[in-house]
Amino acid sequence: MNELLSIANQNLVLHRHPKNKKETLQAWDSADEYLINYFMDNHLEEKLEGEEQLLILNDGFGALSCFFNDIKRTTITDSYLSLSSIKLNMQRNRCIESHLLLQDSLQSFPENIKVVLIKIPKTNAYLEFLLQKLQGKISADTIVIAAGKVNMIHNSTLQLFEQYIGTTKTSLAKKKSRLIFSQVDAKKEVEEKDIAVTWEIEKQQWKIHNHANVFSRNHLDIGGRYLMDNLPEGDFSKVVDLGCGNGIVGMAALQQYTDAQVTFIDESYMAVDSARINTLKNFEEERSDNARFVVNNGLVGFKARSYDLILCNPPFHQQQTITDNIAWSMFNDAYFCLQDGGELVIVGNRHLDYQDKLTRIFGHCELVTENQKFVILRAIKES
Ligand code: SAM
Repeated sequence: MNELLSIANQNLVLHRHPKNKKETLQAWDSADEYLINYFMDNHLEEKLEGEEQLLILNDGFGALSCFFNDIKRTTITDSYLSLSSIKLNMQRNRCIESHLLLQDSLQSFPENIKVVLIKIPKTNAYLEFLLQKLQGKISADTIVIAAGKVNMIHNSTLQLFEQYIGTTKTSLAKKKSRLIFSQVDAKKEVEEKDIAVTWEIEKQQWKIHNHANVFSRNHLDIGGRYLMDNLPEGDFSKVVDLGCGNGIVGMAALQQYTDAQVTFIDESYMAVDSARINTLKNFEEERSDNARFVVNNGLVGFKARSYDLILCNPPFHQQQTITDNIAWSMFNDAYFCLQDGGELVIVGNRHLDYQDKLTRIFGHCELVTENQKFVILRAIKES
């Protein structure tokens, strides 16, 4: 797999983080290359003077943040994995740390933005969130360019640029990617709307608030629901909701195990903040005081043998790529962090062979229940 990006007189060594031994995917794509080449061919660095800034939205693994090393820039992402990849790739390529401000999606956009480079995110809701925030920070001479794979750029994508920025056109496709050019209309006044959504889970009468980039944002995930309905019986005291999304599984645990402390973990800043809001909204203080909210890559860095129950509805995507790598690492992390006798309980689509993975790690795996679509699996850490 190619780790060397040679482009516009620079050579960058870029890794995806977390690094897998059998990694087959490179840490940049043709949309990154198209953006970099366009920027350099059109000398956009000359547009940046004094305190004026380059803003990079949604950089995947750091190709853009590392390439523009000489320029003062802010990079914003909702992903802890992206943020860690960018940091590691900056170090790997000896980039000047003080030139880059790395921020998560819930922080404010910087002032003095002159050029904006956007990698198109997976969902329109998150794109809309970014464009709405951007709209308040740009002026008529700000240059806004986005890039993405052709199959990620739809009419609805372009409509969002028209709605929030101004007249929008696209480039020809190169290596299956396209650029989007949006001319800032400074007179545009778009009414600010809350892009987060709220809905209710009838059974528990919980009000669920989801930020723009949260998994299953508009409805209760049926896999998550199945896990909530099949929590193990027992007297658990230290529980983890691993890959918590909006927190529904951890909240079910907080309700069922009345003395337990529950730790909600996700790699999306918006997910962890939604889980926090939902727990505070739907539980009395006495109970929500026993909840912890952590943005992290799985359980990496957590202590061995520190939990007695880990619940997980594992992800099968990393950014745009379908992968079981994350599920695999989560199961390994869980094994490490469970006490002897502690349990990992997961929900998965029937066709994803999690049973085999859990058996390899734990030495056994029990089918708790199943329906037409999902299985609930349980693995106990034996001493
Ligand atoms: N628990 C929620 C539910 O059941 O609706 C969400 C489950 S969703 C299938 C998987 C979640 O794992 C997503 O929220 C995703 O952001 C999160 N995730 C993906 N990679 C992760 C990682 N490396 N560490 C922690 N969370 C991760």
